Amino acid sequence: MEIATLNEKIYCSVFLTKKSFWLTLLYRMTTFFVPFLFLNLGIQKRTCMSFSSQKNFNESRKQTGYVPRKEATQKTYDQLGFMSGLEVHQQLLTNEKLFCHCPAGIYNDDDDFNAEIVRHMRPTLSELGEYDGTALMEFKTRKEITYRINNENACTYEIDDTPPFPLNREALEHALEISMLCKLNIVGEVHITRKQYLDGSIPTGFQRTAILGIEGELELPHKKIRLIQLSIEEDACREISDIGHKRIYKTDRLGMPLIETVTYPDCVNPEEVREACNYIRFLNRSTGKVRTGIGAGREDVNVSCKGGTRVEIKGVAHTKWIPELTHNEVFRQWALLRIKRILNKRTSATAWKISYQDISGLLRIPLLKNAGKVMAVKLPDFQGVLSHFIQPGRMFADELSGRLKVIACLEHPNLIHSEELKPQLGKEDREKIIRKLQPGEKDGWLVIWGAEADMPTALETIEERCRMAFDGVPKETRKSLPDGTTVFERVLPGANRMYPDTDSIPIPLDDQDIERIGQHLPEEMIARYNTLKNQGVPEDVYTFLFSKNLFPLMEKIIHETDIPPVYIGTFLGEKLKFALHHYGARWPFPFKILSPLFALLKENQLHHQLAESMLPTIVAYPKMEFDSVLTAIGFKRHPEKEILAHIPILLSKFREGKIGIDKVKEHNWIMGHLRKTALGNMDLSVLSEKLRQLQ
Ligand SMILES: [Zn+2]
Repeated sequence: MEIATLNEKIYCSVFLTKKSFWLTLLYRMTTFFVPFLFLNLGIQKRTCMSFSSQKNFNESRKQTGYVPRKEATQKTYDQLGFMSGLEVHQQLLTNEKLFCHCPAGIYNDDDDFNAEIVRHMRPTLSELGEYDGTALMEFKTRKEITYRINNENACTYEIDDTPPFPLNREALEHALEISMLCKLNIVGEVHITRKQYLDGSIPTGFQRTAILGIEGELELPHKKIRLIQLSIEEDACREISDIGHKRIYKTDRLGMPLIETVTYPDCVNPEEVREACNYIRFLNRSTGKVRTGIGAGREDVNVSCKGGTRVEIKGVAHTKWIPELTHNEVFRQWALLRIKRILNKRTSATAWKISYQDISGLLRIPLLKNAGKVMAVKLPDFQGVLSHFIQPGRMFADELSGRLKVIACLEHPNLIHSEELKPQLGKEDREKIIRKLQPGEKDGWLVIWGAEADMPTALETIEERCRMAFDGVPKETRKSLPDGTTVFERVLPGANRMYPDTDSIPIPLDDQDIERIGQHLPEEMIARYNTLKNQGVPEDVYTFLFSKNLFPLMEKIIHETDIPPVYIGTFLGEKLKFALHHYGARWPFPFKILSPLFALLKENQLHHQLAESMLPTIVAYPKMEFDSVLTAIGFKRHPEKEILAHIPILLSKFREGKIGIDKVKEHNWIMGHLRKTALGNMDLSVLSEKLRQLQ
């Protein structure tokens, strides 16, 4: 430094002449200003590089450790502390509803109703002087709930104008049978309780439910799953629509008998959850006393990670969705825990609050035309949090958007924010917001809009959800989407939501009843699984066999005809499944007609493989006589000798003019020619063998 100064002085003294004055001044100015110039560039450079939402989203996904399900291993789930349990709901097959004599299983179209009833929810203090969180949330939504009632399937009980009739004994016995199959300890007396149901899906605000058994166990092929309990309960209404402040339900399903099987959180990876769920569903179906079809079985899946919270994914309609849903949920919680650490490092939750400005009319974009009130909201220290990865294709801002829809009734799209991957606002509009809100470097902001009356709830909802981010994972129920992600549904109901039903007397269960029901139990699912395995039936057909409860039918056919189990298992689990999907089957398909079919083939000394040709016609016309089916498919009897006599002719035809014969091609070509004639008249594998001998 000193050397430089010395050189500079020498330079100055030597060249300080008139001509060189300007040069020297230029040099002086450069040495003086250049550092400022660089400093200035530095600032500009920092601003330009300041923040990229896309980069932040990608980076936060990486930091969360997210991997697609295909790449995840047990080690991945162990590191996250994956824990999951199930609540499996299954409708029982009864003629009547659970607490009244209305028919069960009669459904109406949305517009088919005789009366409408409108209700509003209002929270009241509990006996302990507290408000339930769900009740408060539902009250905030200011929903007007309409129930559409059809005389055919609802009476005054469903709308709480008549006390309950005695519990449906048929439903009770079905449920007890399933409880025993689950190896639960059956209660001595059935106590009917009321479970608070505040989302409006039950007009009374509660569901009548009774625990039938506790502490059971299911033996899956590779692990045991413990059961907490099994209850019998009434089903809720079906939602027709939920737009803004109006929600409409129909009451056809309301009050239908249902069982709920609750497991401990014993599943340690997503596949295991699906396996356990299938097992419970198959067990229920093995009794033949439950309803099947869309909506007859629904699952709530509870998931948590290490340090997370039990989050309930409600009403999963397909078990095949479970692995992706649970995988994404456990990572969502993991991401929320990372956000928690980021926020707590930046600031303290106690001092944190939003600030907002009314900017109605300020932004002139098509989305906000007729938007009502438009508010800009500043979220201090939320930069990088808004675009933080949460689930595939979702970021933290989506958590806010989900709550705004449900709690403040702001329909989607309901949010513009500072970290959108595809910004909806131009530079000018963004600057207008920045001038209004004056956000700091680490702040984020949102724009929301809607009816003026909804704004206080909307602002409160934003502040509440952002504050929750300092604590990690909020307790909530979430709705499943077909892409394997979830959205906010409700605040998780409090623990104190059960109280005795003063309208019902306890029902004693005597030992004789239990013994009688226990005498007719189907064999255990694990036994059926092992039987199929020992018979060599391929494992990929089990799901169809169990889900349609075809195991008893399979046993009956084997018993009556001596057809190999592998053949019948594959016929029912693969060929029948294909035919049902491709030949216009109507549900419910009368599977039991297949046992007389095989009996008839045996009686007429026709080979059982003929059933494969008959299947498309039987599936399309299940009431058609089997003789007519045979005529329809053009079946003709041919002696085995006559069929085999074709082989030499076909062989010479195939070989004509060829040098070098592909034996496999030749075999397939000839089998293709003879298959139709042979089917039913002789065993195709015998034909194949005879052909091979002659080749
Ligand atoms: Zn009724």
